[in-house]
Amino acid sequence: RGKRAFIAGVADDNGYGWAIAKALAAAGAEILVGTWVPALNIFETSLRRGKFDESRKLPDGSLMDIVKVYPLDAVYDSPEDVPEDVKSNKRYAGSSNWTVKEVAESVKNDFGSIDILVHSLANGPEVTKPLLETSRRGYLAAISASSYSYVSLLQHFLPIMNPGGATISLTYIASERAIPGYGGGMSSAKAALESDTRVLAFEAGRKGKIRVNTISAGPLGSRAAKAIGFIEKMIEYSYVNAPLQKELLADEVGNTAAFLVSPLASAITGSTVYVDNGLNTMGLAI
Ligand code: NAD
Repeated sequence: RGKRAFIAGVADDNGYGWAIAKALAAAGAEILVGTWVPALNIFETSLRRGKFDESRKLPDGSLMDIVKVYPLDAVYDSPEDVPEDVKSNKRYAGSSNWTVKEVAESVKNDFGSIDILVHSLANGPEVTKPLLETSRRGYLAAISASSYSYVSLLQHFLPIMNPGGATISLTYIASERAIPGYGGGMSSAKAALESDTRVLAFEAGRKGKIRVNTISAGPLGSRAAKAIGFIEKMIEYSYVNAPLQKELLADEVGNTAAFLVSPLASAITGSTVYVDNGLNTMGLAI
């Protein structure tokens, strides 16, 4: 049987989540996605109307099949955690069972188990503010959506992951080097995510024979990145200063993800793997 993957954080065809889904589909995996509740409607409508058909094309000419789209808000672990104003919000009230615990239960009921878990989501409401001006609420929201969301996903999905399976997340170099502009506690959230990768690799390795890695990706003009405000500058900086002076394609991150969750990477766990045209290795670029 082919492998089954659940990819959290796909809401259009521009981001890393979509590229990872494609690379896994091309390698023969069955694709399930988790889509942020407020983005669900437009994503499903676009998918149904064929808006993504061009970008669903796989190398063999077939179209990637997304077997099921689950509404998900990874900021909430179970229904008890959802505040009233969110519950009654029009965009949320139209969907159900979108807390992490409920999504894991639904996937279990629908498919029994998965082999691959991908976390490709982040959110920092104050990302455009310098850390020095970030509120406690904004900082904690960044950590909740971008770091704890991964702990929670793995916590709830591990029991339905087949031994030998693997999980990955996406991180950014702002965790270890100062990147002015990547604010609101997002740099802190990525530092937590990378540290958690090591601890979770130990725990999930011992508990379920599951590997845990994170990809430190270079800049991509995704929807989330455009919200930060200076993504074009980051892309240009990388183009000028990285060892490999070429555009970084989302598919290059997708391919690395496919490798990392495959048996080819069977001894790799707890690692932060750079897919950034080598930019992270530079001190002074000329
Ligand atoms: P993206 O917009 O394609 O993906 C982010 C997704 O997160 C969106 O689909 C959004 O709907 C979803 N999301 C936000 N809050 C959520 C929540 N509470 N519950 C569920 N889903 C939620 O953008 P992307 O840049 O491809 O981001 C994917 C990952 O890649 C993120 O972790 C990001 O930090 C990381 N990354 C991006 C870059 C870059 O330059 N784009 C660089 C390095 C790392």
